[in-house]
Order: sequence, then C-alpha cells, then structure tokens
Amino acid sequence: MDFEYSARTERLLEQLRNFMEEHVYPAEAVYDEQIKSNDNPHEQPKVMLDLQAKARELGLWNLFMTHGGWGAGLTNLEYAPLAEMVGRSVIGNEAINCSAPDTGNMEILAMYGTEQQQSRWLAPLLDCTIRSAFAMTEPDVASSDATNITSTIRRDGDEYVLNGRKWYTSGILDPDCKLVIFMGKSDPEAPTYRQQSMILVPADSPGIEVLRDLPMFGYRDRLGHGEVQFTDVRVPADHMLGAEGDGFAIAQGRLGPGRMHYAMRAIGMAERALELMCRRALQRTAFGAPLADRGVVREWIARSRMEIDQIRLLVLQSSWLMDTRGNAAARSEVAAIKVAAMEVAHRVVDHAVQTYGAAGVSDDTILARLYAITRALQIADGPNEVHLRTIARLELKKYA
Ligand SMILES: Cc1cc2nc3c(=O)[nH]c(=O)nc-3n(C[C@H](O)[C@H](O)[C@H](O)COP(=O)(O)OP(=O)(O)OC[C@H]3O[C@@H](n4cnc5c(N)ncnc54)[C@H](O)[C@@H]3O)c2cc1C
Repeated sequence: MDFEYSARTERLLEQLRNFMEEHVYPAEAVYDEQIKSNDNPHEQPKVMLDLQAKARELGLWNLFMTHGGWGAGLTNLEYAPLAEMVGRSVIGNEAINCSAPDTGNMEILAMYGTEQQQSRWLAPLLDCTIRSAFAMTEPDVASSDATNITSTIRRDGDEYVLNGRKWYTSGILDPDCKLVIFMGKSDPEAPTYRQQSMILVPADSPGIEVLRDLPMFGYRDRLGHGEVQFTDVRVPADHMLGAEGDGFAIAQGRLGPGRMHYAMRAIGMAERALELMCRRALQRTAFGAPLADRGVVREWIARSRMEIDQIRLLVLQSSWLMDTRGNAAARSEVAAIKVAAMEVAHRVVDHAVQTYGAAGVSDDTILARLYAITRALQIADGPNEVHLRTIARLELKKYA
C-alpha cells in the first residue's frame, strides 16, 4: 500500500496551497463585504469573479470532474486532497468552479445528457458563464425518501408540463442561474423506482415562482435556498434527462460523488478549525496559564488530530474504491464518510468555538459559519440516519 499522492496531485496541491494563501484567504472578508454592499445580495461579488479568473489562468479549474474529457481528468483519489485544501475556506470551492449544486448537476449532464443538452448547459456550466439549481426536496413530504416526491411531470404533445412545490432549491436566487434540474413523478403507476423523472428546465420559464429565500440557521447564503412553486411549467420533450423513469437512478448517481466532495471539504473545514484552535490556545491566557497548557484543551486538540486523520484515510480509501470498483461497490464507504466526516468536522469546530469563548460565536472568525455548515450538512444530501440505514442494511446482508 502506497500512501504517497500522485505527482500530479502533489503539483496541483502545491499550486492550490499558494492560491489559497495569496488569494482566497485574503478575499474572505472582502467577499462578505461586497455581498452586503451589492444591491442584490445574491449577485456574485466582484472579488469572486477575480478569484475565478485567476484560478482559470493557473489551471485550477473543474478539478472535480472525473467524467469523459470534460474536466481536468483527475481520479477521485487525486481530487480528494485538493478538495480538502479548498474546503479550508467557505469560498474556496466556488473560486475553482467546484461548488454545489453545480458540480452534481454538471456530473449528471456529463453522464446522462444528450450532446445537445451538454452543449447548451454543460459547456457554459464548466465555463462558469451560467449557474444551476437542483429541485428535488419538497416541503410537504419526507424527501429523504425520494419515492415520496409528489411533483408531477406530465407529457402533453411535444412538451412536458411540470407542477409542484419545492424548497431548499439551492442556487435558484443567483441571477446567473439559468437551469433548474427538476425531479417529479412522470408515471405514478410504474414500479416504485421507475415513477420519477428528471427534466432540464430553463430558469426563466413561465410558471416558476420563487416564493422566498430560506435561511440556514439564520445565515443567508449568497446562492439562496429557494422555496419555489412550479405551476404548469412547459418544457420541450427533448429536455428530459435520460429516459422517462430514470429519475431515481440519476438521483443516486448524482449524490454519490457529491457526498464524497462534501466529505473531502469537511476535512478541510476541520483542519482550518483545528489550526485556529491551536493558535488561540497558545495565545490566550486564563487563570495564569495559556489555554494550551490545560489538559482539557490538549485533549480536544489531540482527539481532533486523531479523528481528522482517521477520516482522511477513510475518504481516500472510498475514493480509491470508487475509482477502481465503481460507485456501486463503494456504497457503504461513501455513506460512511458522509456521516463520519461531517460529524468529526462539527465536533472539531465545536471545540474550536469553545476555545475562542464569545469570539467563537461572533462573526469575527469563520468558526460560527463552519458550525452552521457542518450541522446543516448532516441533513443536506441525505440525513445521517438514512446513510446509517444503508450501511446497516449492507452489513446485515452479509449474515442474513
Ligand atoms: C443547506 C441545505 C441545502 C439544501 N440544498 C438542496 C438542493 O439544492 N436541492 C434539493 O432538492 N434539496 C436540498 N436540500 C434538502 C435536503 O436534501 C433534504 O432536507 C434532505 O434530503 C432531508 O429531507 P427532508 O428535509 O424532507 O427531511 P425528512 O425526510 O422529513 O427527514 C427528517 C428526519 O427524519 C429522520 N429520518 C429520515 N429517514 C430516516 C430513517 N430511515 N431512519 C431514521 N431516521 C430517519 C432524519 O433524522 C431526518 O433528518 C438542502 C438542505 C439544506 C439544509
């Protein structure tokens, strides 16, 4: 077993580290300031456009894309340490065009899109000239079980007619969002996992109404999480993604690599929090000694280091499994890292917040933000319990 990263990964990692230090970390506060001063808080701040131009110039672009000739051509195993590096900043992945929900949408367009769909939507997404949203979750049904989806996709001549209410449709408030991938039932009489379809919907189609922007623990994300009403939205029949009834399978395909990306970035978040915790503990004195001299703080630091390193190994192993045996063979491991990485990241961030005292819950550091993100991501992209259910089912199957 070889624990060295490939030469290509080492080279990109070094470039990415420099890019983060010289450009991304200094831009974090500017990004927040520019969002506040923009007339539309969902508009892309200028500093992000500058970061993206720089990343593109350096060749640090679309590194996530492992399909076909569309991206940088890295394997999941090669991408993992790079995703960790950009995960250290909440604006890092967007700077290199590797951010959700666009990454998942680009992946399914690469996997299931027709040539025409790819040239209309995938090419500009990879070029970052448009953005996209993914509308699966509905407020009225338990959407962690996608068979519950009630939105409808009905064929009418050369068109499909879409109806339904979605929410937490991330990215839909971005003025650059031009595409919504909509999931609904096209045949309620079909077998359970063939009832759903996914269809590509131009975001300016008549009948789409964004009712409100939903917060995440009170934070308003630049992308926006929309509650969206679709009323008699008409799209040409050739906008269907894959065949009618493929929706459930495509959803599974979309979420696999996406979970891997979240896990990789969670490690980056945990590393950033651990670094902040150590620096603060060394510099802050209480009751006559630096916090770093207290046993309890040392235990937080030591356990954080151990847990992060354990998770990194699990993520790398899962990435290798996806690369060598396919996503299906890595199901249990992918489910495991989605749960474990986010739980570890949240725990490390929690200790870092505590080490900072009141400053930890302020917005003077990124810790409060990381706290909210690592908590919300235990629900988004499938709640922990649903992933644990998958792992347990596969484990029990061995002995049944
Ligand atoms: C920040 C954020 C961004 C999001 N972005 C998007 C997006 O862009 N597009 C989109 O379509 N959706 C998005 N979502 C929605 C997300 O994917 C769903 O919230 C998630 O799938 C859970 O669905 P639900 O909210 O309906 O919870 P429910 O399905 O109602 O589940 C509620 C709770 O029940 C428990 N539970 C469920 N099943 C089981 C089980 N089998 N065993 C034990 N307990 C169980 C879990 O604790 C779960 O949290 C986003 C969510 C968040 C928070």
